[in-house]
Amino acid sequence: MNNDILTKKLAILKNRKSAFIPAIEAIHDWLLQTSEALSKQNISPVDINLPIDKVVPEFLHGIPIGLFDLNWEVHCPHCHAITYEYHDLSQAASASYCEGCKVEFEADFAKWVNVTFSLNKEIDNREPILTCKLPDTTEVFIHIETSPAETKSAIMTFKADTYRYICPLTKSRGLLTVSGEETDELQVFSIEQLADNKFDITKLQARPGRIKINLTNSIDSPAGLVVFKDYLPQQPLPPRLSGLELIHYPEFHSLFGEQVLSSREQMQVAAVTTLFTDITGSTEMYERLGDIVAYNVVRDHFDILFSNIEQQGGTVIKTIGDAVMASFTNNRAALISVVNALEEFEKYNKQNVDRQVNIKTGIHRGQTILVNLNDRLDYFGSTINKAARIQAVASSGEICFSEQVYQDNNFIQTMKKIGIENVSRHSVNLKGIDGLQTIYKAVTKFNKNTLL
Ligand SMILES: [Zn+2]
Repeated sequence: MNNDILTKKLAILKNRKSAFIPAIEAIHDWLLQTSEALSKQNISPVDINLPIDKVVPEFLHGIPIGLFDLNWEVHCPHCHAITYEYHDLSQAASASYCEGCKVEFEADFAKWVNVTFSLNKEIDNREPILTCKLPDTTEVFIHIETSPAETKSAIMTFKADTYRYICPLTKSRGLLTVSGEETDELQVFSIEQLADNKFDITKLQARPGRIKINLTNSIDSPAGLVVFKDYLPQQPLPPRLSGLELIHYPEFHSLFGEQVLSSREQMQVAAVTTLFTDITGSTEMYERLGDIVAYNVVRDHFDILFSNIEQQGGTVIKTIGDAVMASFTNNRAALISVVNALEEFEKYNKQNVDRQVNIKTGIHRGQTILVNLNDRLDYFGSTINKAARIQAVASSGEICFSEQVYQDNNFIQTMKKIGIENVSRHSVNLKGIDGLQTIYKAVTKFNKNTLL
């Protein structure tokens, strides 16, 4: 690792006006303390000892100055191994295949895509050693770790089943089939770790009973052997920075706004919260104030709304006339951004008696598709349509939301804390959606003050 360049680049990072020095120092400490063996590649921002939203902006600002590189990692839902890694969103693929589990899966952007940062090659040019971290719940039957030229053994009793053995470092793998009559004899197998990330034996057949495995490490770096059942259920990944979370950082947009999916790719997103807002009575306002003044009011309204959306970690996806579409990683943040904006509109309305602004709001959460629309990231699908339709049935000052949002306890608790108690349930027809839909309307205190 080149410490001189590292120190220089860290100084550049700290010199920024918006730099959050404690985060940069925490990252530096982490780099100094982490052992050389596991390399300072693929650093997960959750490992740094500070809230993740303080750390990620510093990592992102470190990329254009040549301090860090950005890695998008696709993880297998079953064994959590990295099945594909890319460095620009244009290389993202909607599906991936795990060689170990022999499964193809949707590379869901919220569930299976992780973001990590590496030291730039100019600072550390070693190839990353990406260890394969199995889900915590995986039952491990044998675990051996060896240094170069070392042989180590382990014994375990096995029942009839199919097992997999892998080296978490070299990713070498093989299959152990245990079947037939149980035996009292100790069954001994010797496996050698070869170069080119391979074991010399990739298929073992044994009977139920005691099995001894000898692992000989014939390469010049550490190697190991872990034995677990071949079938692994899907398990959520441990806490991390997901792809969906990263694209909600304003720094991602300001620094990497040009990083978008290729025009043909569509990424599944398990769940995203979508917010739609529209100004109340804008037609009347344009008539009363004239186009120029009314346009300025609309611009003021955008400024207030956008800053409140961003403050809560939301992203403005687009404007459609006077309407705004934004996305959030959670419902609570969408709610707070709306309530804060409504509060600001109330102040604005008091200061500008002839220029009253109020909005009607819709919030919905569900599965969606992330796409590239006109070289910007956008969402697509029935969740988005429904969110827009929910907004369309809201009245001035009302926050309308779906059953999915109502079921979110965090959202409801936040609503109570804010003091919104007037929530009513309605069965409505939403344009373009079959059947009656349940929606909820929350009336904010600002409702009564509007002149429009
Ligand atoms: Zn797998």
